[in-house]
Amino acid sequence: MWTSVTLLHSLSNLFFPPHCFSCNERINDSAILCEKCSNELVGLKENSCVFCNKNTVNSFICEECKQEYPFDEVVIAYIFNLPLQRMIHNFKYNESKKIGTFLGYKLAEIISTYSFISNTDYIIPVPLHKTKKRFRGFNQSEIIAKALSTKLDIPILKNVLKRKKFTQTQTKLKKHEREKNVANAFQVKNIGAIENKSLLLVDDVLTTGSTMKSIALLLKENLAKHIYVCTLARA
Ligand SMILES: [Zn+2]
Ligand SMILES: [Zn+2]
Repeated sequence: MWTSVTLLHSLSNLFFPPHCFSCNERINDSAILCEKCSNELVGLKENSCVFCNKNTVNSFICEECKQEYPFDEVVIAYIFNLPLQRMIHNFKYNESKKIGTFLGYKLAEIISTYSFISNTDYIIPVPLHKTKKRFRGFNQSEIIAKALSTKLDIPILKNVLKRKKFTQTQTKLKKHEREKNVANAFQVKNIGAIENKSLLLVDDVLTTGSTMKSIALLLKENLAKHIYVCTLARA
């Protein structure tokens, strides 16, 4: 006999049949992506620096950029191709949290192959300003962080990093303008919580890295031991 839950589920599938979160093609009940889009999730190769494009050996950041950016490790999961851009767009702007969790689980699989993860104390999602969060309804980095926390068994550090300044959208700004835009945008609320800790910062997409840089500088000023950075892609 059908339970009311399965009946509701079947009814919802009848009226809202599942679609691929990237191309909107009809798909099987339990899937998130169609086969084609699923195959188009392509891992980013660790052979060039995501900040200056210089060739590297097994690293997403070159030695020179390590002097400029206070990151101990950087992990970027995927090539930012059209299917992934559509997934992230649906995730952020159409409130498709399911695809965010799915991509977070994928990112966790990739990160779990790195040795630094065994000495990571906390995961910290890049905070949104409360006005922006209210407007969007959720913080996309928090959804990814939750997925990572579940799969990697590392707790999320809440209420420690705060975005105190409402920053304009950064998409049209140049690198130095972005750095100025996010300078002093963040605040640490409980210094004791991060002292001597290794922290994994999470965001959806890395652009110039200026937001992550400003957070990492602040956390290190407040005596964090290591700052690791991970995102789904590099825009
Ligand atoms: Zn698709
Ligand atoms: Zn570089």
